[in-house]
Amino acid sequence: MSSIEEQVIAWRHHLHQTPEFGFEEVKTSDFIARKLEEFGIEVHRKIGRTGLVGVLKCGESDRSIGLRADMDALKVTEENDFAYKSQTDGMMHACGHDGHTTMLLGAAHELATHRNFDGMVYFIFQPGEEHGVGAKAMIEDGLFDRFKIDAIYAMHNLPGVPEGHFVTNPGSIMASESSFEIEIIATGGHAAMPHMGTDPIVVGAQIVLALQTITSRNLSSIHEPAVISVTEFTTNGTTNVIPSSATIKGDTRCFTDEALAKIEAAIERVVAGQCVSAGVEYKYSFQNTFLSTINTPKETAVAVRVAKAIAGEGNVDGEAPPFTISEDFSFMQRKIPSCYVLVGNGQEGEKGGTALHKPFYDFNDNILMTGVRFWSELVSDQLTKV
Ligand SMILES: [Zn+2]
Ligand SMILES: [Zn+2]
Repeated sequence: MSSIEEQVIAWRHHLHQTPEFGFEEVKTSDFIARKLEEFGIEVHRKIGRTGLVGVLKCGESDRSIGLRADMDALKVTEENDFAYKSQTDGMMHACGHDGHTTMLLGAAHELATHRNFDGMVYFIFQPGEEHGVGAKAMIEDGLFDRFKIDAIYAMHNLPGVPEGHFVTNPGSIMASESSFEIEIIATGGHAAMPHMGTDPIVVGAQIVLALQTITSRNLSSIHEPAVISVTEFTTNGTTNVIPSSATIKGDTRCFTDEALAKIEAAIERVVAGQCVSAGVEYKYSFQNTFLSTINTPKETAVAVRVAKAIAGEGNVDGEAPPFTISEDFSFMQRKIPSCYVLVGNGQEGEKGGTALHKPFYDFNDNILMTGVRFWSELVSDQLTKV
């Protein structure tokens, strides 16, 4: 085992023991900053609160590349029982961001040691990914104004895929996530005399059914796959009282910004139409948390080429179907060209095969060096020394 491999495993276990929630990654960002400084990398802190950026320049070229890792943990109680399990009750690295941070730190070490590139590398350590707030905070703090980054790449582990295999595609790789809330304001009344008032349950039930016509009638069945799920329906009624209000909440996913805009408008159109026909009022709000993760073709071709060099031709799927999970890297993707790749954490039933966000999940140490090599190769591929 090479000494860098031993080091990255030790870093990963340290980070796993000290998980921190989004925007609270104080010890984590201190640890990263200390390591980057040890490697001789310039560190810029407090970009997006606990976020930080390491800058490594080599040669005279003005070409640049951004590599992004996420740092935050989840409010999940760890049920693993190994020596490096979480030391914080109710908090664990259940999404492998300890591994992502470590792979990027390992690459920073290798690139700072060998300096086999010509240009500028930005190591971007992002806080608060899980709740869709960290990427936006870094952008608002001038990530792309303070640093001229030509293209940005991110990597996430994926349980259920053989360890060290790569998965991506040159378009929408993950869904957007938005939530909506509809409040129907009626008059209600005695259950025996519905004609004396207006009933929010009957109109609410019609809205629930009509919302399903958006995916089947308003969006292309081929180009605009989407999910609209009503997840809550509550009222202030009781057995013999027709309520005066009903609240409907739900969640929607889709794969393009155009489909997202259509869904937001279509839900309101359905709600407005049903409410007018029933003679009731409504309030409507729509909240987007994640945009869809959309890769640019040129950067995806680069990532696929590098992944094939690392993992072997047959172990890279560069045309994978999209996933309905979400990522806030999507907000960075709206700013500059980008690619998001997934790296297999291990097949189900094998090491690394436990699903993300589960209390028995653990990032697979066997893929740490795969990630280090991928990042290092990507930099030397894009910032070739001439
Ligand atoms: Zn997660
Ligand atoms: Zn994650």
